[in-house]
Amino acid sequence: LVVVKDINKHYGELHVLKNINAVVNRGEVVVVIGPSGSGKSTLCRAINRLETIDDGVITIDGVKLPEEGKELAHLRADVGMVFQAFNLFAHKTVLDNVTLGPIKVRGLSKADAEKKGLALLERVGVANQAHKMPSQLSGGQQQRVAIARALAMEPKLILLDEPTSALDPEMINEVLEVMVDLANEGMTMIVVTHEMGFARKAADRVIFMADGEIVEETSPEEFFTNPQSTRAQDFLSKIL
Ligand code: ATP
Ligand code: MG
Repeated sequence: LVVVKDINKHYGELHVLKNINAVVNRGEVVVVIGPSGSGKSTLCRAINRLETIDDGVITIDGVKLPEEGKELAHLRADVGMVFQAFNLFAHKTVLDNVTLGPIKVRGLSKADAEKKGLALLERVGVANQAHKMPSQLSGGQQQRVAIARALAMEPKLILLDEPTSALDPEMINEVLEVMVDLANEGMTMIVVTHEMGFARKAADRVIFMADGEIVEETSPEEFFTNPQSTRAQDFLSKIL
C-alpha cells in the first residue's frame, strides 16, 4: 500500500532522512521506534506530504505522491493522521470535528456525516461527549476523538505519531485499546510509539530508526528480545 523508495531529506546541513526504503502492506501494522531526532516524525510527515523530500519516491496505493494541487488533497484524504498534540479544531464541537472532513472533502450530507460521526465516536467510547468542545474533554478523550476524526475520512491507512506521549499515564491505555482494536480490524497503520505493550500486541513489524536511517526492521518479538545493532541495544536499555 505504501512504498517509500530511496528518499532523502535535509534541513539545511542536517541530513534527517538518509536513503530510506520501506514498504507497508495492506492491513499491516508497522511500529516505528527510535531515539529523539532520528527522523520518525519527518518520515510520517513525508508520507502525508506535509513535508517535502529532496529525492526518492513515495507511492500510496500505486499513486506517486504529487507535489501539490487537487490530486494531493485527494491522496491526503486517504491517509489519516493523528498527532501527539491532538490537534482538534478548538472552536468546533467534538461532533463537528468528526463531520467536517467528510462533508467538505467526501461530499457527505450533514445528516449522513453526523450519523457516521456518532457511530465512530461510539466506537472509540466518547459518543456521550459529542456536543462538548474539545477543551472540555480529557487528553485521552481528545485523542480518541482525533482517531475518530481520522477514521471518518475512511482512509486507506492511518499514521499515528506518538499518539500517547502527551497523555497522563492513566489515559494511555484507553487510547492504546482503541489502537489495538483498529489493528485487529485490519486497518493499515504506521505508528510511532515507544509503547512496547502495543508493539507486542499489535505490530506486524518494528522499524528502528537512528540518525535518519532505518537500522533494523524485524518482528516485535525479535526486536525487543534480541536486537541486533548496538544502537538498538543502547536505545532499548534506556527505555526498558
Ligand atoms: P522525536 O522522538 O523527538 O519526536 P523524531 O525521530 O520524530 O524525534 P524528527 O522530528 O523527525 O525526529 O526530527 C529529525 C531531525 O530533524 C531532528 O534533528 C530535528 O531537530 C530536525 N528537524 C525537524 N523538523 C525540522 C524543521 N522544521 N527545521 C529544521 N530541522 C528540523
Ligand atoms: Mg517525532
